Amino acid sequence: MSEIYNFSAGPAMLPKQVLSQIQAELVEYGNAKASVMEISHRSVDFMQMAQKAEQDLRDLMNIPSNYKVLFLQGGASAQFSMVPINLLRGKTNVNYANTGHWSVKAIAEAQRYAQVNICTDSTSNKFTDIEDFANWKIDESAAYLHYTPNETIAGLEFDFIPEVDMPIVADMSSTILSREVDVSKFGVIYAGAQKNIGMSGTTVVIVREDLIGDVVPKQPILFDYATQANNDSMHNTPSTFSWYAAGRVFEWLKEQGGIAEMAIINERKANKLYQAIDSSDFYSNPVNPQYRSWMNVPFILADDKLDKLFLEKSYNANLLALKGHKSVGGMRASIYNAMPESGIDTLIEFMADFEKQYG
Ligand SMILES: *Cc1c(COP(=O)(O)O)cnc(C)c1O
Repeated sequence: MSEIYNFSAGPAMLPKQVLSQIQAELVEYGNAKASVMEISHRSVDFMQMAQKAEQDLRDLMNIPSNYKVLFLQGGASAQFSMVPINLLRGKTNVNYANTGHWSVKAIAEAQRYAQVNICTDSTSNKFTDIEDFANWKIDESAAYLHYTPNETIAGLEFDFIPEVDMPIVADMSSTILSREVDVSKFGVIYAGAQKNIGMSGTTVVIVREDLIGDVVPKQPILFDYATQANNDSMHNTPSTFSWYAAGRVFEWLKEQGGIAEMAIINERKANKLYQAIDSSDFYSNPVNPQYRSWMNVPFILADDKLDKLFLEKSYNANLLALKGHKSVGGMRASIYNAMPESGIDTLIEFMADFEKQYG
């Protein structure tokens, strides 16, 4: 049987090596005489693992020492609430860039706490383009600016960081660890683990220390960054297994040569796939080439009546989860760090064969 490649947008595939390692140590973790699922989060074995995971992430992303790294629950969606709760700091107005589906969700939640200035809006181009930053309408008095560096559904990715005189908050759920970023440019970075970190259940939050500790009153104590930071993300029981899985992925990334190396591979993988799409009249991608995502590659077939057949045949060829999001239609190949280059080659080959037969 041919190798299986999973193009799911999230929860997404994990490196095979990591899955095998998890399998090998599932029943007895290290010297714990029990599974990592069965031991206290305050046990020496777990604490050592947790600290190493944090240190490995700090090494990988070069996180400055004045930032806390938190391993929280509630997904990226919980951060849609935690960000305004923690960062308003007496202000009532905030900037949000609206560049896609996840921006829309973040904005809706922020509007429950603050007056949201939409500083740029890609709705009219159906989230296929990003407005020139010089034309953004920034509210200079706002508490922060929030944006989504990679929109997972439309496959729209920033190639720049907005330059503003206020904390920048980034939902990096589907791009974290895919390329190098200068963490010091951000107030808060957050990412659900189930795309490019590991499995669902953990959200990594990287927050600058001076932004911790002035929370909107009468909010859940778990939603206060200070509660989490002061208790090493263990005010209550964390999602121990997914924290552990994230740690194993960080180790794998270090073995691959770190983020600089992953970025080279990711750019090559994405370019190959876009090139295959662009060189055919049968497949197309509507995103401005400058802002095409390295991680999520949507494409449509010239005749959408063939969608069902494409999905059936690709599934039978062991190319899984290529169905696009309903708002975009067609297909989407999510090609996170764990997707080997051979998966891209196999997909491109399949697409060419399908076009030859039905195009
Ligand atoms: C998947 C995703 C989310 C939602 O994450 P949850 O963990 O389900 O809350 C938010 N933002 C982006 C950019 C995503 O890709």
